Amino acid sequence: MPKPRVIYWFRTDLRLHDSPALKAALDLKPECLYPIWTWDPHYVYRARVGPNRWQYLLDCQSDLSQSITKLNPKSKLFLIREAPQTLFPKLFKQWKITHLVFEKDTDAYGRERDQKVMALAKEAGVEVVVRYGRTLYDPDELVEHNNGKPTMSINQVQAAGKKIGEIPRPIAAPKSLPDPGDTSLDFEQEVPESKPDINAKQRNGDEESYTKLAGPNGDFAVPTMEELGLKPATTQHRGGETIALKMLDEIIANEDYTATFEKPKTAPTAFEPQATTLLSPHMHFGSLSCREFYWRCQDVVDKYKGHASQPPTSLTGQLLFRDMYFGAQASLGYAFGQTYGNSHCRFIPWHLPSKIDTSSGLITGEYLVDNAQAETYFQRWREGRTGFPWIDALMRQLKYEGWIHHLGRHAVACFLTRGGCYVDWERGAEVFEEWLIDHEAACNIGNWQWLSCTAFYAQFYRCYSPIAFPQKWDKEGNFVRKFVPELEKYPQKYIYEPWKAPIADQKKWGCVVKGDGSETEVDGKKAYPKPMFDFPTQREVCIEGLKNAYRIGLYGNDSKVLDGTWRKL
Ligand code: FAD
Repeated sequence: MPKPRVIYWFRTDLRLHDSPALKAALDLKPECLYPIWTWDPHYVYRARVGPNRWQYLLDCQSDLSQSITKLNPKSKLFLIREAPQTLFPKLFKQWKITHLVFEKDTDAYGRERDQKVMALAKEAGVEVVVRYGRTLYDPDELVEHNNGKPTMSINQVQAAGKKIGEIPRPIAAPKSLPDPGDTSLDFEQEVPESKPDINAKQRNGDEESYTKLAGPNGDFAVPTMEELGLKPATTQHRGGETIALKMLDEIIANEDYTATFEKPKTAPTAFEPQATTLLSPHMHFGSLSCREFYWRCQDVVDKYKGHASQPPTSLTGQLLFRDMYFGAQASLGYAFGQTYGNSHCRFIPWHLPSKIDTSSGLITGEYLVDNAQAETYFQRWREGRTGFPWIDALMRQLKYEGWIHHLGRHAVACFLTRGGCYVDWERGAEVFEEWLIDHEAACNIGNWQWLSCTAFYAQFYRCYSPIAFPQKWDKEGNFVRKFVPELEKYPQKYIYEPWKAPIADQKKWGCVVKGDGSETEVDGKKAYPKPMFDFPTQREVCIEGLKNAYRIGLYGNDSKVLDGTWRKL
């Protein structure tokens, strides 16, 4: 029997430690192992990815490539610039591949892509080996043990998890890696014909990134942001397995922090250092294994002499939430990502009239917030110029650094949807998709549904005030002063409500509250926008809207869009 010739396809697992799929590849005792990454046009052109996340990805790739080379100087991460669906049949042939190995991906697009690649492998006589390793439990198993239903609560995850059995312990990183074989690519690159390029605005117009199979120098190297034609990243957060493991070591070394962590008690206003672990981008790129994270925490908890926190608020509980969203997504597929067609997402007629005509099934009545107004609210929210300093500080931190605390995400998501602007959660989720360095489709979509009270959570009368909520954490307003520096000199009394300060004082403090934020200076003075609405009034409007929507009781799959109007089926 000839020895296996294996492609290891890195995607959601940019690490060497605790990788069940990599272990499976090495267990084949291959004659050669090709560690590859394919530049999927889906990611390059269609997923919304801002410069900060691009940089993070390149960091992860560089670090992984160097770690591979440390284990075998002949090897590295080979980056190939073609869609996997067209590339693999050519690679199988050219490199005489016998096995293709990768980590399981249950994202809606990932599944579709992998099914296609598996069919191509079958045609080529290549054996495919797939292992899950991205979540604590295999999301499909979680669903199966939740009576075949999407996991919509942490209790369901815990109950299904019990039936599956103990979360496996992490696997050590390999100590050596086989040589890659010959890496010639004697075939034409296939570039997709139509590329709906939603990332064009991130680029300088240059698409060098995608022009040669093995990169411009033919060496399969990790590109730079410049080579990709991308604007420079602004975030200070850096990616890569080496950094991830160091961060985890530091967290675990602080036994009190690890064992007593309670999410609702962590301050969303804390920065340098932030109050939570900031490991989410590493979890997204797989530069940290979730089982490594879980067991390192659990081991501290088990040995802890004091009173340790428990799921769902503990650190391990946070990882269970992550699994919950993966389970929901695995079950609902593409429908999970939107209201339309989603059997588990409530239909809220955002900006649409909100009463139902029972004879025709048409939703009629007054607009709660008309479309032009809603668009203005949305743009001002996105750009961090709502006139509410807490919301603006968070949105500016998000854009600049690519990460905000969980309760900060709560605040801006509630504000955009059911607790302020009455704008559809899908629009907010798109902004997060573009700007978050930890953007994880399952977690982003699920959390937006939670915050908009369309799924997972239903207490819509509980809204976050943009004034009282941050005051609880940061009376001084230091977080606002950092991210909205024009208000730096405002005293604590006015930091969350600058519009209430007397105009003479506003001038004295060097920033007047005027306009809608499109002008940053008025009469030679810095300007900060007036609040775009009266919050208490707007909150009542939203609660009224949600009450009506809940009473009507439609879900995304109950309705269809007919001539631009939602109609009950
Ligand atoms: P920690 O509190 O230290 O938690 C440890 C880990 O648990 C995190 O790294 C993360 O992997 C996981 N986790 C914690 N909370 C959640 C949660 N509520 N849902 C899912 N996983 C969780 N998280 C993402 O990873 N990607 C996203 O795209 C994302 N979008 C969000 C959108 C909204 C509107 C909201 C409200 C939350 C979103 N979250 C998302 C969840 C959460 O805010 C982040 O995971 C968390 O803030 C990351 O910071 P951390 O690593 O310090 O978390």
